[in-house]
Amino acid sequence: MSVTTRFAPSPTGFLHLGHAASALFAWRQARAVPDGRFLLRLEDIDPTRCRPAYAEAIRHDLTWLGLTWDGPVRVQSEHLEAYRAALDRLAAEGLLYPCFCTRADILREVADSATAPHAPDGSLVYPGTCRALSPAARGDRIAAGERFALRLDMVAALVRAGRLTFRELGQGTIACDPERFGDVVLGRKDAPASYHLCVTHDDALQGVTLVTRGADLRPATDIHRLLQVLMGWPEPVYAHHGLLLDAEGRRLAKRDKAATLRSMREAGMTAASVLALASAGLGMG
Ligand code: GLU
Repeated sequence: MSVTTRFAPSPTGFLHLGHAASALFAWRQARAVPDGRFLLRLEDIDPTRCRPAYAEAIRHDLTWLGLTWDGPVRVQSEHLEAYRAALDRLAAEGLLYPCFCTRADILREVADSATAPHAPDGSLVYPGTCRALSPAARGDRIAAGERFALRLDMVAALVRAGRLTFRELGQGTIACDPERFGDVVLGRKDAPASYHLCVTHDDALQGVTLVTRGADLRPATDIHRLLQVLMGWPEPVYAHHGLLLDAEGRRLAKRDKAATLRSMREAGMTAASVLALASAGLGMG
């Protein structure tokens, strides 16, 4: 069976060793089979955090490492109308509602409630305030120019989708529990669509058969499977790899400037030695 993988960074900073490991992991899976494909996608839909200079640096770093990709780079900010169409489809099925709440509104609301559950990604589970608004109230607030996000009505979506699972490479079938996230935002106030929507849309569109990414994104897979079923998109296999840690045992992050690929290169490290470190960090030797 043919394999298509992708590396899908957000250009919000310079790549570090953890990214090199993630790209290497995806690249190896594709190059291990005769007609495997490795794609590069720039997930730059957040205009407040993404910078063209970082996008350019990503292409440069990957080329330097020799992790060359197949076909054109997909740049998400060039395809906003496609994400809008996907949102329109979900809205037409009654699965989205406009949410006018600010972060302060949500904090106030949960402060008044006995429980304030957190989603697996650390965010507060939305208490559902705007789900209860009447169509007339929604219309009035939109007409008045209030800004809104689009949230998925999780309960309605789960009724539609039924029981969900995903397949983890080498581990078999695992049950999903997207309900833990509550009514997730799929269309943002400050960006045309959310990560969850765009990533699943593009994996389907680009024919990605094996989604590889860090274990930190493992919980998000539950939401992604739900969206795939709701939208009728194919189900890829998943491979979540371990995260690279720094000397203190903390996850490498974009804020750790010393570990950027760029700084390693400038310090005279070779691409081969960076790949060897990345590989060792993945436990792949
Ligand atoms: N763009 C996401 C990030 O940089 C990763 C997307 C994915 O691999 O699913 O964290």
